[in-house]
Amino acid sequence: MKISPERMRRAFGFIPTASFADGVCHLIGGFGNCGVVETDEGLVIFDITNKALGPKIFRDLREVTDKPVRYIIYSHGHFDHCFGFAPFIKEIKEKGWDMPEVIAHENCVKRFEKYRMLDKYHIWLNQQQFASLKSPLEVSAHETLDPTIIIRGNEEYTFKFGGFAFEIYSEWGETDDALWLWLPEKKVIFAGDLMVSHFPNVGNPYKVQRYPKHWALAMERMMEKNAEYLAPGHGELIEGKEKVKEVLSITAEAMNFVHDEVVKRLNEGKWFEQIFHEMVEIFPDKLRNSPYLLPMYGCYEFAIHAVYRLYHGWYDTGNPTDLFPAKSADIAKEFLKVADGAQFLEQAKKTVEQGKLQLALHLLDVILNGTESENALLLETLKLKSKVLKQKADIETSFIATNIINNGALALKPKIKDLKNKLKSQNP
Ligand SMILES: [Zn+2]
Repeated sequence: MKISPERMRRAFGFIPTASFADGVCHLIGGFGNCGVVETDEGLVIFDITNKALGPKIFRDLREVTDKPVRYIIYSHGHFDHCFGFAPFIKEIKEKGWDMPEVIAHENCVKRFEKYRMLDKYHIWLNQQQFASLKSPLEVSAHETLDPTIIIRGNEEYTFKFGGFAFEIYSEWGETDDALWLWLPEKKVIFAGDLMVSHFPNVGNPYKVQRYPKHWALAMERMMEKNAEYLAPGHGELIEGKEKVKEVLSITAEAMNFVHDEVVKRLNEGKWFEQIFHEMVEIFPDKLRNSPYLLPMYGCYEFAIHAVYRLYHGWYDTGNPTDLFPAKSADIAKEFLKVADGAQFLEQAKKTVEQGKLQLALHLLDVILNGTESENALLLETLKLKSKVLKQKADIETSFIATNIINNGALALKPKIKDLKNKLKSQNP
């Protein structure tokens, strides 16, 4: 089931501003949501989106209130949550207001340092992960609005402001620097990316380790609050006690399921391939069909990787052949001595006709990895691989997976063009 572009846009945060909890709270959509608590003494802001959309959320905020920003809380240190600060700071300076307190977890500060160290790498990998977005994301952490109040370990931090209590909790989940905000008087949770109303982004193929079991525990702690409103990090506000409970509980159930079932299989002495394919087989319909767990960004399959990787080393096949493997080009050349490229291509075509697209890719890669000079064969192979990738992308729902597949197809284009030119000059 392909997810509609409109649903994707809303899920990413392109939503109209919602005012709720007697008009005290607002949720403003940017690439990441900006949560606002409006008090008589000023505003508490929960996340300020990315650099490009900072001006957008600032304009939208100023349409609903002109009060000064007194606190900014970072749900976590990702680029879509704490880099849109420039217009806020500009206004504070122009009006001569006091600078706000900025609250973040200690691991958020470490994250900013890591981003600076891996600057070029992060630009490169985010360009791949978000390749289908029209405007490239700015992911530099050289300019940050640094926290003035730092929460350490699993500390809770509470403060009173403008007649309201603010309770901030530390968690691990999508990241190890996650904070969520509970506003007891209004029964509101601002969840950051611990809640995105689709399958949690755990096991992202490009990113560092994430934490499914901790994620489930965070959902369970949120459930204890019996909240009336749940403001997610991306996508629309979730309203009503029953619905809030439902979405938290199904997310916890999914995270517990994938964690506990992988752990069970690790204890049975199974290797990754067996665990992965068994897990795909046993994915319960209740989770597969939940409207709150659509595989729009991350997906169940990625989550299996996350759990395995959490507890296991990189040697994941149990086959010593894979301990010090030869180059794939050398392996392919040996295969092509047994059966030539034309035979592999013929077999790949048959598997495509049978709808076995993944197997076709493995066959085509033998030709592509092991062939250097047969231009006509290479051209036909590349064209078929490109077609198969497009077919796979058409049925894929995860934004990240679709981008990876499409990037692969795109990378074949110049090679195809080059081969066509070579063949033309050989046979003018
Ligand atoms: Zn986010």
